[in-house]
Amino acid sequence: MKSEKIPRVVIVGAGFGGLKAAQTLRRTPVDLTMIDRNNYHLFQPLLYQVAAAYLDPEQIAKPVRGIFRGQKNLGFKMTEMVGVDFRNRVLETTSGAIPYDYLILAVGGQTNFFGMSGVEEQGFSLKRLADGVGIRNHLLTSFEKAALEPDSAVRRGLLTAVVGGGGAAGVEMAGALAELTSNVLSRDFREFKSRDFRIILCEAANRLLPDLPEDLAREAESILKAKGVEVRLGSFITDFDGEAVQLKDRTAIPAHTLIWTAGIQAAKITGSLGVSLNAGGRIVVEPSLQIPGHPEVFAIGDAAYWEEGGKPIPMVAPAAVQMAETAAENVLRRIRGKALRSFHYRNPGALATIGRNAAVARVKGLKFRGFPAWLVWLVVHLIRLVGFRNRLVVLINWAWDYFFFERASRIIIDR
Ligand SMILES: Cc1cc2nc3c(=O)[nH]c(=O)nc-3n(C[C@H](O)[C@H](O)[C@H](O)COP(=O)(O)OP(=O)(O)OC[C@H]3O[C@@H](n4cnc5c(N)ncnc54)[C@H](O)[C@@H]3O)c2cc1C
Repeated sequence: MKSEKIPRVVIVGAGFGGLKAAQTLRRTPVDLTMIDRNNYHLFQPLLYQVAAAYLDPEQIAKPVRGIFRGQKNLGFKMTEMVGVDFRNRVLETTSGAIPYDYLILAVGGQTNFFGMSGVEEQGFSLKRLADGVGIRNHLLTSFEKAALEPDSAVRRGLLTAVVGGGGAAGVEMAGALAELTSNVLSRDFREFKSRDFRIILCEAANRLLPDLPEDLAREAESILKAKGVEVRLGSFITDFDGEAVQLKDRTAIPAHTLIWTAGIQAAKITGSLGVSLNAGGRIVVEPSLQIPGHPEVFAIGDAAYWEEGGKPIPMVAPAAVQMAETAAENVLRRIRGKALRSFHYRNPGALATIGRNAAVARVKGLKFRGFPAWLVWLVVHLIRLVGFRNRLVVLINWAWDYFFFERASRIIIDR
């Protein structure tokens, strides 16, 4: 009897897209290999909460091997993709070649500093788990240094944090830092009053939250201001030397912390594949999510570029998840010799929280604000977080913070 070869499917990236693709191919006759340079899946939407001392890193990340313990057709390798030999159908990694019949590239994105080397070298991005821990350590260390600093100008710089970028990540980061300093640290540090800490949000455009309607953006701006954040619209950051943030209008803000959330591009590996890319390095795909000229290779999530109704598919988790479903289904369709499906994005809306009891949201054309929006945000994020244990611990931490104005994670781990 002739034995059929089981198709080898390799997925690169254990982010939102990679995870969903692997889960969609569970209990199907394929031999799956997932690779990631980290051994964990990171829930990036809560990264700012690690930076702002709400949560510990392991509460927003889960080991990939643990996630797929029960999935018999999947093996995991912690290694880094360095290229693809499309002709021989081999994925090149830092630990050797991995042959494939089908390849799903879900390598995500990385921070875009737009060539500002000072911002890249002296500032923080908010993308990797190490960034969250790094920001927290740096802020807490700066505040401890400020408590020992006799020079008032230096002290003021140490107590000032600038957030660059008024999208959802920047708004959430600034709101969380304002609450950290006013509700928690101003009580920890008897040396300072709440007003001594400065959180400044710089946005180059003349409004915040471009993905939300103008009235909700204005509301978010007033809530931030009420929480003590200095919101500076039309404020264009050009450089940072670790002690001052330079602006395009030639003024400077003395600050020892800059958190840069204003730019995102595809992971840099896409640039070495010899395929067609958009300006942000995203791989231009066909409606089936295949890479043109390579019908057995699919790209999804932040790393893939596709337009619908003249607009690019946004770099958000629901888009990565939906693309993963289509790509995984199309792999199966190709194996079975069926016609492939085209991808269509179902936009679930947009949400941003601005701290305790405050959020703005647009879901299915309806606008939510205040406590109801905050509750929606809370439930959505808890449901999406991977692992029951993580959900429980995060819920306990949030409740503790909510009732006792206390942050669990105020330890400086690494100086
Ligand atoms: C701070 C922040 C907040 C966000 N908040 C929200 C939000 O509230 N709602 C929302 O919908 N979206 C949010 N996003 C966007 C969302 O996280 C991304 O759109 C989503 O993660 C994209 O999924 P992905 O699978 O394409 O890539 P990712 O989830 O980024 O996963 C990519 C994976 O590929 C791995 N990888 C990359 N290069 C290589 C390589 N060469 N070799 C091996 N492995 C590699 C990475 O380690 C990573 O695990 C946020 C993003 C950030 C940074």
